[in-house]
Amino acid sequence: MVERWQWSEAYGFSWEGHVFPLGKYALLKDRLLKELAVPQEEIGRPDPLDRETLLLGHTAEYLDRLEAMTAFPEQGWYEFEAPCSREVLDGFYAMAAGTVAAIEAGMARKGFAANLGGGFHHAFPWKGEGFCAINDIVVGLRSAHERLGLGKAVVLDLDVHQGNGTARAFEDDNWAFTCSIHQQNNYPVKQRSDLDIGLEDEAADDIYLEALDQALDVCVAQKPELCLYVAGADPYVEDKLGGLNLSLEGFRERDQKVFNAFLREGVPVVAVLAGGYAEKEEDVVEIHFQMIREGIQIEKEAKASQGDGR
Ligand SMILES: [Zn+2]
Repeated sequence: MVERWQWSEAYGFSWEGHVFPLGKYALLKDRLLKELAVPQEEIGRPDPLDRETLLLGHTAEYLDRLEAMTAFPEQGWYEFEAPCSREVLDGFYAMAAGTVAAIEAGMARKGFAANLGGGFHHAFPWKGEGFCAINDIVVGLRSAHERLGLGKAVVLDLDVHQGNGTARAFEDDNWAFTCSIHQQNNYPVKQRSDLDIGLEDEAADDIYLEALDQALDVCVAQKPELCLYVAGADPYVEDKLGGLNLSLEGFRERDQKVFNAFLREGVPVVAVLAGGYAEKEEDVVEIHFQMIREGIQIEKEAKASQGDGR
């Protein structure tokens, strides 16, 4: 069976001087091993994804352009607003493979699984954007839809930035329901998700969690076979790129609401990490860590109450 957690050294590529903290992936993996006693063998090491699978989410022309690395070579930065190199591309391909595998794991165990990376929701089928070269969410879900028979899926995107690339990629797909709760007055130019809730600047725990309750009612009513949870850490009050004011306790409640809503209904939840730009990198890791911890705990409780004590 495919491993429940997915992580690779390739996730930690070097983006020197960039605001995106790539060290968070290894730090999170280490905390799972040490503090949650996750066995090493439960952590899969995805190899970079093959082109055939990448084509499920991107055009051949875009993939060729990525490989050629021809955009903006004079600055050494690429069209997705970050430096590009062989190492960077392989990192993105590995993270997409991690999301493909995590979805397979979540479906197989009918519970909680996660890619300890991924969540690059600003990449469109035909272009990169933001800090996103490959949209692992789209590639992963399409792969499961076409190859594993996944029916209705909900993408619940709680990153502070709207999941514009994902919304656009799935706009004509009835089997994929996209929901995004984000800060309205922030990057990016908005696309239309199936459900968008744009929050005012500085919205804090109460407002955020109320919006989440509304969104979860709509998402659960879709009767999905799987929830792909884009568990961004950047609605955090200390975030440099986000303007919402969620506290660490607010994140814990957020994650509990998400896991309770789906796992207790027997709907698998597969998490990807997405953004997080707190002043302190350890805060970003803590937000992701408590998400994983809550998911493990609530899956355990849900399975016990469903008479399946695995
Ligand atoms: Zn973000």
